[in-house]
Amino acid sequence: MSNSNIVWHQHHITKQQHSIQKQQKPCLLWFTGLSGSGKSTIANALESQLYAMKKHTYLLDGDNVRHSLNKDLGFSDADRIENIRRIGEVSKLFVDAGLIVISAFISPFLSDRQIVRDLFQEGEFIEVFIDTPLKICEQRDPKGFYQKARKGEIPNFTGISSPYEAPKYPEIHISTSHQSVEDSVSQILEYLRQRGFLNA
Ligand code: ADP
Repeated sequence: MSNSNIVWHQHHITKQQHSIQKQQKPCLLWFTGLSGSGKSTIANALESQLYAMKKHTYLLDGDNVRHSLNKDLGFSDADRIENIRRIGEVSKLFVDAGLIVISAFISPFLSDRQIVRDLFQEGEFIEVFIDTPLKICEQRDPKGFYQKARKGEIPNFTGISSPYEAPKYPEIHISTSHQSVEDSVSQILEYLRQRGFLNA
């Protein structure tokens, strides 16, 4: 729904000024992968490293957002799409503020991730595929969700009763069955370093 009585107010302080002040190039690192694949674990370890490097970050995590901004949404296809759309818009505001934003959501559908990618300028949206086979995620089952889903207690559970569409061309591809958390963080930091995100 658009409203013709609302006009976009041009801010005096631009994204570029925020970026220069923070000595970094803002971006959105969009983690996607099955439940239990390691998104939260790697995202938190990455944020800690960036913090130690005096970088300005914000971590948006699936469960936390569902307790707050998106607590009115469920897990139907329509609600999942709206969940991701809102997170994309919030991430965009944080990127405008000059932050390195890390989002950790299953985000199972290619089309939803494409909608978020399209909100950003070329190079700003960095898709990080946390690629862990379903079998391993199910063995880990850190929150006990798979056990419940197999018993039919969680409807529309990604990987069990709802599909996961893997990224075709992720900017960063991490295979947690072959890489430690530390290796994964190093791989992401190297990507950011090579493309000049860690200095303005
Ligand atoms: P998600 O956020 O994708 O649902 P979590 O990060 O909450 O996943 O859970 C992943 C679980 O897998 C954690 O218990 C973590 O310690 C474990 N794990 C084991 N090996 C790895 C690895 N190489 N990378 C990331 N997580 C791993």
